[in-house]
Amino acid sequence: MIWGIYALYERVSGRVRCPGGLSDPLASTIGVKQGCPLSPTLFGLYIDEIVDFIQQQGGDGIEVHGSTVHILLYADDIVLVSESAEGLQHHLHGLDDFCRHRGLSVNLGKTKVLIFHTSAQVRRHSLFTAAGGPIEVVGSYVYLGVTFTAASGVFSMAQAARDRITRGYAALALMERQCHHAYFQEPCTKGWLFDTLVTPALMYGAAIWGPGLATSVWTALERPQILMIARLIRSKPSVPHDIIRAELAAPPMLVEALFQTICLLHRLRSMDTERIAYRAFEASRDMALAGDTSSWYAQTRDWLAHHGFDIDRLPPLQYDSHAPTYSLSHQERNRIIRQEIWHTYIQRTWVSPRGTLPPKMLYYREHFLHISGTGFIEIPRYMQTYLPHHLRVVIGQLRVSSHQLEIERGRSRGVPREERWCPVCQTEVESEEHFVIRCPAYLDLRAQFQIEESFQLCMTMGDQRRLGCFLTAAYERRERSLQYIHQPRVSTQQTITQFFQRVELHQRGPSIGLTLHQAEAQRARRRPRMGGYRRPRLYQEDVSRIRIAYDHMMEHRRTTTPWVVFLQEALRPPPMYHILHPPPPITCR
Ligand SMILES: [Zn+2]
Repeated sequence: MIWGIYALYERVSGRVRCPGGLSDPLASTIGVKQGCPLSPTLFGLYIDEIVDFIQQQGGDGIEVHGSTVHILLYADDIVLVSESAEGLQHHLHGLDDFCRHRGLSVNLGKTKVLIFHTSAQVRRHSLFTAAGGPIEVVGSYVYLGVTFTAASGVFSMAQAARDRITRGYAALALMERQCHHAYFQEPCTKGWLFDTLVTPALMYGAAIWGPGLATSVWTALERPQILMIARLIRSKPSVPHDIIRAELAAPPMLVEALFQTICLLHRLRSMDTERIAYRAFEASRDMALAGDTSSWYAQTRDWLAHHGFDIDRLPPLQYDSHAPTYSLSHQERNRIIRQEIWHTYIQRTWVSPRGTLPPKMLYYREHFLHISGTGFIEIPRYMQTYLPHHLRVVIGQLRVSSHQLEIERGRSRGVPREERWCPVCQTEVESEEHFVIRCPAYLDLRAQFQIEESFQLCMTMGDQRRLGCFLTAAYERRERSLQYIHQPRVSTQQTITQFFQRVELHQRGPSIGLTLHQAEAQRARRRPRMGGYRRPRLYQEDVSRIRIAYDHMMEHRRTTTPWVVFLQEALRPPPMYHILHPPPPITCR
């Protein structure tokens, strides 16, 4: 087998793809093949001894639950850890020795030092060297996709989350652009695309940074998803996020973060007790049990408890911690965990909320929200069926109260609910229900589009296109009748007459019908133009020349000599000029 690998690497060559085609083959004598499935194994075999090497060298490490850690490895990413500057420099020398011995080279451009210390002085005045060059000390570093920031002295969860938000927006923009180019606006598939393209970018490593986040950061994390759904129905930004998500029955990002955290906890608990991750977890738990609320374990425990989960009884074992789970496959277990979290979220938000719901959400729950028998939100009918964009928008806006009916306008102007009368019929409060099924002004339209008697049936009726057309027609009529009430009607004939009216003479420009003398007088009366004139740029020598010319002119004011002569005189070279700069000698043949 060794001979086989030897044969593979006997003659390695590569070509570079350029705009003009492929380059000539280049011979490669170092490194492993890019993209070869054997490469990670070969590299792992090669670098395997570095852990023992660094551990044997000793020096300062980090104490994790009874053993000292000096080095962390993930593929070809190496992290050296130490509690003191001397210890880190010692490790760096060790790494140097190892690399020189093995013929490896460290990429100094990618090697950085991150010091977790509250004092900026310490961070600024530390100096480390490796492979004969200095290493930059940085304030933050992205390791395995998670941003580590040193400014506060500890790992900042908020900073890691903000970094993910930026990436999430980038992924969303890419997705929207591709959908736009493909004329693709189908809501359910777009939601699925969001889950596969944007959610992973947004929530990567959420188990690490999720538990300690403030509410404001969570709101910012939820925004890309809200933006995507709100664009589908063009809703106002004031609509509560839970209502917008319910329109597509989409679980919030919080559910994804809880899912990742619970999976991580399961994985940690089933780990080999010798592994560093397990020992770190144990150490964090010991700290939490000793009363330290800033440890990861304590923050996760409190966060899970806030959302209705017990850290010792996580799904799928929350009811019976001894229930056998070996019959479940990996995918099945994940699906159950996710469903369990989503179900709990719906229960705590819509079905039995802790506080009282705001009026908008109460109204939405009463009239539009449909929760199935198993306890999950059902996707509304108009989102499932194919509809033209403008019809989907008109139905969606009615459902999320993002319209111009009096009930909504009155809310923003502070009118009490009982006084938000329908301006068309003046018989009742103009709610969505009144508008769609009761207002007498749209009786004939209702008959025309065969609108159902009950509001619930209306919203779930098979042909949502009819509902959309009815709403469009009713809005148009409402608009027209309100215009009639508020503004004096101007007939079309009147507008046409005004358009062709003869323009009087005095309204025209000044040059027509005036003598030359009159026009000149008018121009003189006109205010001088202030804009449009720029002073030319003058240099010092220009200024002095002009001044000399002016002096000459003032002196000879009474003469009739033209201005050009004065100027020529002023611009004559100074008397010494010819002596200092003699003209070129004339040579005679
Ligand atoms: Zn009415």
